[in-house]
This record gives sequence, structure tokens and C-alpha cells, in this order.
Amino acid sequence: MAVRYMTEEEERYLWHAVGHDPLIASYLSNQVHYGQDFMRTAVNLPVCERCESAALYHEGGVLCPKCGHFGRNKGHRVKNHLKEGWFR
Ligand SMILES: [Zn+2]
Repeated sequence: MAVRYMTEEEERYLWHAVGHDPLIASYLSNQVHYGQDFMRTAVNLPVCERCESAALYHEGGVLCPKCGHFGRNKGHRVKNHLKEGWFR
């Protein structure tokens, strides 16, 4: 199995997405380094249009577990958010 490490930008986004909680960020980062392909799952999640966190598809829209925002606009996925340079 190919182990894929996070790019610096993915690490930076992850840090933002977990609300700057160092314990959770470190836990997730370790999962990736031990071969759990968390980022492959995470990059396909939609991005919250309000707070830019990784959100979840829910009842025809996008629900953000971090800020609670629900949007009918499906927006784009984390991978496009990073690839197209939307994350600052
Ligand atoms: Zn949000």
C-alpha cells in the first residue's frame, strides 16, 4: 500500500479545519503518517461557505459541523479548494 503524506498546504488546511486544536490536529496527522488515508477521504468533503471548514453533505445541501451553517449551495470540495488556491 502506498503511503501518501500530506502536503504542507494540506497540513495547514487540516490545522484550520480542526479549529486550531493541537491535540486533534496531531492525532489526525499521526493517523496519516501511520498509513491511514484520512486525506483521501477528507479532500472529497465539501467546504463550508461560511467558515471554510471541511463540511458534510446533508439533505441536499452542505452542513458544517464546526459553525453549524447549512447551505443549499454545494460549493466545491476540499481538493479543489486547495488545488485552486482558495485557502489563504
Ligand atoms: Zn462552517
